[in-house]
Amino acid sequence: MWLCADCAGPVSKLPEISAAAVAAEERKQQIAQIRDYYAKLNRVDNVAFHIRVANREYCKTVSPQIGTHMVTVQSLPNKYRSFSREALNVSWTKPTVISVVAGSPAAAAGIMTGDQVLALDNVAVPPRRTAGWIGGYLKENGARPVQVALRRNGVDQTVTVQPVIACAIPIEFVTADEVNAYTTGDKIVINTAIVALARTDAQLAVVIGHELAHVNLGHLEKQNVNALIGTVGGALVDGGFLLGGIYTGGAFTKQFKKTGALAFSVGFEREADYVDAYYAARAGYDIAGAEEIWRALGQAHPDSIRFATTHPTSPQRFIQMREVAAEIADKKSRQLPLVPELKVSRAESDSAATGQNSF
Ligand SMILES: [Zn+2]
Repeated sequence: MWLCADCAGPVSKLPEISAAAVAAEERKQQIAQIRDYYAKLNRVDNVAFHIRVANREYCKTVSPQIGTHMVTVQSLPNKYRSFSREALNVSWTKPTVISVVAGSPAAAAGIMTGDQVLALDNVAVPPRRTAGWIGGYLKENGARPVQVALRRNGVDQTVTVQPVIACAIPIEFVTADEVNAYTTGDKIVINTAIVALARTDAQLAVVIGHELAHVNLGHLEKQNVNALIGTVGGALVDGGFLLGGIYTGGAFTKQFKKTGALAFSVGFEREADYVDAYYAARAGYDIAGAEEIWRALGQAHPDSIRFATTHPTSPQRFIQMREVAAEIADKKSRQLPLVPELKVSRAESDSAATGQNSF
């Protein structure tokens, strides 16, 4: 056997590319990516904040929040450091506000994007692990007003912010192609792809509300992971065995698909869909038309149109959402409280009897 050196690579004559031009382009793409990510995070933070506040009575853990995001270059992940100053216009050492939720305590106090935050109640805000420190400070402080020392365009001023109590569960926003969101019980994860699918904030509120409903209704005691769409649950169980050195050959994924052994799961998913519509409505979103998210999901995942696995089909979810929207509109017109109805089916009333449910 012989090897042909000339045949081992491409045969076309390729143009020379300059390393400097590639480096400049890399920087451009990184800056565009981080700006895009933080713009989308801003949207998720906005919707999540309103969902958290409006539904706090149903959450197991709550915390004081002010509705703003501030960072330093140092507080961002290492991979962002070389270009985040330029991308986000933030300081190395002074925490800089990169988002303010509309209608939040921070907005009411007049805090604006670009403000540098120097201190809370005269305690300097650290340049590293900034978000965690602020969360801890607010938790300690409780419901008391906070004096926030700001620097805006070189001028120092102090504003008073009145924190609001809201659901505490962390929400992670992750760059991922898979159209999905899920919860592990101690956090909610929202993928970028599902946010792109949610054309309106009401639809995004439904997505976030769905995961929050799983947490609040105690569905995780029955299932380790509750994803927004099917098959992922099975894939994760298989993945778990694989990590433990046992290869299942996708048996759990197949089982989930084949027998609907988790018929219980479909009931939980329907319940989360039902309750998430209420969460979104209570947060002030007009959910008429929010059911379009399920049509969009059907287009992104054609199998979900016809095959109910761990989750109802996308048409079932669409039709149910429309029914719930009508139920909520009726309550609104009669000025009744927007509280989900209990006693839907046997499985769900059984789950209600566990005492884990808030409704
Ligand atoms: Zn779910």
